[in-house]
Amino acid sequence: MRFNDIKGNRELKKRLAEMVDAERAGHAIMLEEKGGYGAVPLAVALIQYLSCRNRRDGDSCGECESCRRIDRMVHPDVHYVFPVNTTQKSGGEKKPVSSTFYQEWKKLVKDNPYFTEAELYDALGIEDKVGTISVQEAKEILNTMNLHSFEGGNRYMVIYLPERMTAETANKLLKIIEEPFPGSYFIFITQSPEKVIDTIRSRCLRIALQPVPMDSRKDSQEFMEFFTSLMDAALQNDLQTILKTCETIASIGRERQKRFCLFAEECLRTIMMTRLGIVNGESPAPISAKYAKIFPEPFFETAYHVFDNAKQSIEGNVNPKITFCNMGNLLFVNIRKLS
Ligand SMILES: [Zn+2]
Repeated sequence: MRFNDIKGNRELKKRLAEMVDAERAGHAIMLEEKGGYGAVPLAVALIQYLSCRNRRDGDSCGECESCRRIDRMVHPDVHYVFPVNTTQKSGGEKKPVSSTFYQEWKKLVKDNPYFTEAELYDALGIEDKVGTISVQEAKEILNTMNLHSFEGGNRYMVIYLPERMTAETANKLLKIIEEPFPGSYFIFITQSPEKVIDTIRSRCLRIALQPVPMDSRKDSQEFMEFFTSLMDAALQNDLQTILKTCETIASIGRERQKRFCLFAEECLRTIMMTRLGIVNGESPAPISAKYAKIFPEPFFETAYHVFDNAKQSIEGNVNPKITFCNMGNLLFVNIRKLS
């Protein structure tokens, strides 16, 4: 992953490269995003830049051994920690750690780099539970960062959502963040900086990301077409178009069906926030502005539940045709009832 491969945040990428060139990057960086802004790929690109020996034009070369291994997420000195919870996979272990789920994490970052927290939990299979970064994880972080690097170069620890750390976890990490071993870097990625324990936050160089247009995310263009088709048809009482769109959705495979439901929920949240005047200029602005005005307010919550129930049915292996036909019917009936 090079800076160039990342959509948006042009000024920020330039600033990061200049900081590294001037050796002013610091050893604890906190990237601040709302879900789906792509802070994880940005962290990967930053690490690649820090490690590349053939940097050029403000970017890593993408070709050297180090670049290729970081890009493939198989570099032994680049570590990732993220919130997890018990699943069948963690074998009922009380305090599972990120390394148990590394393959799922890698696949998510590769397939859908602009993922949200909900999409992470979905990918890990922890379902409706919220993940945490446990004290067990803190022990692993200390062990990892106290070792010498495998390759003799820098060591990196990316911690996704430090706000999900328990207080005990955070306290265990304070010292190593304050006095890191030479050549070690901590990159935190937060969606709620105010919830990160102050003693960690104050030790970091804080950098805020700008939103990435929703349509540049994987699948988003197609998902947006499904979403607007459903919403427009619901507003026009056009059951036939709704069912036709639902039939298409029923044919795209379970994983993508789940992602579509999450996408639709995110659209509804943004539209609702636009309506309340909370979001300004955040994607997907054009549709938000349009639907925020026309939908009756109770429809948002109802529609949110309709998409959420469809997602749960897909997870529960209910037939997709039945699931999405049912979803379409519910959207139709509810908008009729409310308009
Ligand atoms: Zn390189």
